[in-house]
Amino acid sequence: MRTLITNIAELVTNDQLVTNDEQAQDAVGQRLAGDSALGILCDAAVLLDGDRIAWVGEAASAPTDADEIVDAAGQAVIPGFVDSHTHLVFGGDRSAEFAARMSGQPYSAGGIQSTVEATRAASDDELRTRLASFVAELHAQGTTTFEVKTGYGLSVADEERLARLAGEVTDEVTFLGAHVVPPEFDNGMGSDGDSDDYVTLVCGAMLDACAPHARWIDVFCERGAFSTEQSRRVLEAGAERGLGVRVHGNQLGPGDGVQLAVELGAASVDHCTYLSDDDVSALAASDTVCTLLPGVEFSTKQPYPDAKRLVDAGATVALASDCNPGSSFTSSMALCIAIAVRDMGLTPAEALWASTAGGAAALRRDDVGRIVPGARADLVLLRAPSHVHLAYRPGVPLIERVWVAGRAI
Ligand SMILES: [Zn+2]
Repeated sequence: MRTLITNIAELVTNDQLVTNDEQAQDAVGQRLAGDSALGILCDAAVLLDGDRIAWVGEAASAPTDADEIVDAAGQAVIPGFVDSHTHLVFGGDRSAEFAARMSGQPYSAGGIQSTVEATRAASDDELRTRLASFVAELHAQGTTTFEVKTGYGLSVADEERLARLAGEVTDEVTFLGAHVVPPEFDNGMGSDGDSDDYVTLVCGAMLDACAPHARWIDVFCERGAFSTEQSRRVLEAGAERGLGVRVHGNQLGPGDGVQLAVELGAASVDHCTYLSDDDVSALAASDTVCTLLPGVEFSTKQPYPDAKRLVDAGATVALASDCNPGSSFTSSMALCIAIAVRDMGLTPAEALWASTAGGAAALRRDDVGRIVPGARADLVLLRAPSHVHLAYRPGVPLIERVWVAGRAI
């Protein structure tokens, strides 16, 4: 099946070499995440062949042998969003905790325990049904690639089950046994003794059970969660089993998460709200992506990370939803873009790049996040003439049509 999408006013390819936009051509070679990086083609068309992009170019020279023609009617087409950080396998509901927080109570990592209880109590089918509804929700909002973490099971059997269920809906499964220390290992006396025992379990039997289902390992390296040394143990154990490394770090205050991530060659370090100048320099000099999660600061009333500082320094920035029941229960990448532009110093072009090509870099993928021949046919037709509208019209549903691997959703 060959589908030609034509009459596209603005096609965002994320391939800066193909642009026919004169302003952008002048800027090619300048700041990576600037307008030029979007590789915008005006008056464009794109041909899908099966699950792949077959051809990209100006509409006037489009192939004429398509089986189906879709008229974009002068709207914009962008790559599907790549959401590189979610926690979508869980049971329960924490809307009451959210309401309490909005009434003035501070966020604390301990709220995760209530989701752990509800998740352990849920059957596979209950979790599977909920996961399917999240996948539909993501697709409807233009997200075509997404990562899913475990981390609400925290026992060998439950973490294995969450990794297996996540693997039914995505190739990007992350083992996050080191999310928090579960209650049965918490001696309530502030001692690290029991949490070390838990880390031993995570690095041993739990990793053995989860590694076959996972591509990544992650750890919550933060005061109140896991120490730097515990985090290192977890990440090194995962790397030895062939898993790629990701880190939750520098979310609630300054810490070692970024430095540890860079040292271990992590694909991404996520949150990065509290960064020293050394952290920023380390990120800029590495190929570790800095993934910012503005839904968290929005939903917890915390200060936003400074995305402009990172881009200006030369770091690669991704945006992701962190969709989870506690600190950020949004799956909307458009909302993340709007916040990043409004409050984190990104231009609309930089924010879109970070939500597509940036997310792909955070997952070390080169087959998604771009509209180029050979890439997977993941595209979004916007109900708007330009990608700028994603930030310019916050909260407005602008997703007209979505293709996932060439299949219209
Ligand atoms: Zn997270």
